[in-house]
Amino acid sequence: MYDYDLLVVGSANADLVIGVERRPAAGETVLGSDLAVHPGGKGANQAVAAARLGARTALLARVGDDAHGRLLLDSQRAAGVDTAGVLTGGAPTGVALITVDPSGDNSIVVSPGANGRLTPADVRAASGLLHASRVVSAQLEIPLETVVAVAAGLGPDSRFVLNPSPPRPLPAVLLAACDPLIVNEHEAKVLLGEAGGAASGPEDWARLLLAKGPRSVVVTLGAEGALVASADGGVQHVDSVKVDAVDTTGAGDSFTAALAWRLGTGASLAEAAAYAARVGAVSVTRRGAQESFPTAEEVDALGG
Ligand code: ADP
Repeated sequence: MYDYDLLVVGSANADLVIGVERRPAAGETVLGSDLAVHPGGKGANQAVAAARLGARTALLARVGDDAHGRLLLDSQRAAGVDTAGVLTGGAPTGVALITVDPSGDNSIVVSPGANGRLTPADVRAASGLLHASRVVSAQLEIPLETVVAVAAGLGPDSRFVLNPSPPRPLPAVLLAACDPLIVNEHEAKVLLGEAGGAASGPEDWARLLLAKGPRSVVVTLGAEGALVASADGGVQHVDSVKVDAVDTTGAGDSFTAALAWRLGTGASLAEAAAYAARVGAVSVTRRGAQESFPTAEEVDALGG
């Protein structure tokens, strides 16, 4: 009855990456490697991750009428994402300027560009898309009021999943819609503020976050897996799969997309998180973000 298993509402960025011997100080110019341009942004990443797993996926986002926008649309379509909801124009495509030194430390400047122009009115105009989607996921690389409009515009039985990244305090009305709210350690601490500092660890964070109003909470713990928490299920640990990690970029995005999709197929929160942990584990064995996301067959082939 739904046209889409997952609608992702969020950002699409071109990641412009240059390797440098040393990141430049103020006023300094350094020479770097050839430029590499990768499709990125948390929204675009989540949509590609879900589609590659086989989910019927759509993206609601805004890109500029420029070459970076076309690159992003091409990468979405290549993965099988429906891009009819991607709006064009209003500002240049969002860009992340990334310099990486040989130790892997990076400096990043983000220009949100068109992502910042995705408005609540755009979301209301896409009401048909929201109502045609079993699960809707969002992040915070678009205006907060736009994410609030997504939560307010869901279909009657649609489920809303939020990864509040980059983190900031959230209004109660948004928290109440999350099922689940998915955070890593850093995001949990920012959302909890002082209470997070006083908490004894991830299980406490999960309980404290649940008390803020979401219907369920997931705390991702990198190689340690994740915690899932809900009022009726308590707090449960979900194991990770042991792998040789080479690059954790995009792990959280692939985890969130996989979990959101599996929830829509009827999996419990713990089952969906266990599957998502396998997806995240495969993604960290490969370099890059979208390039690292597995197919369902690759997830099934993972041992553990
Ligand atoms: P984020 O990228 O948002 O910080 P995490 O680093 O917690 O998120 O990763 C998300 C999920 O990806 C984890 O919960 C885990 O399931 C998986 N994952 C991440 N790093 C590893 C790792 N080194 N080994 C196995 N699984 C991992």
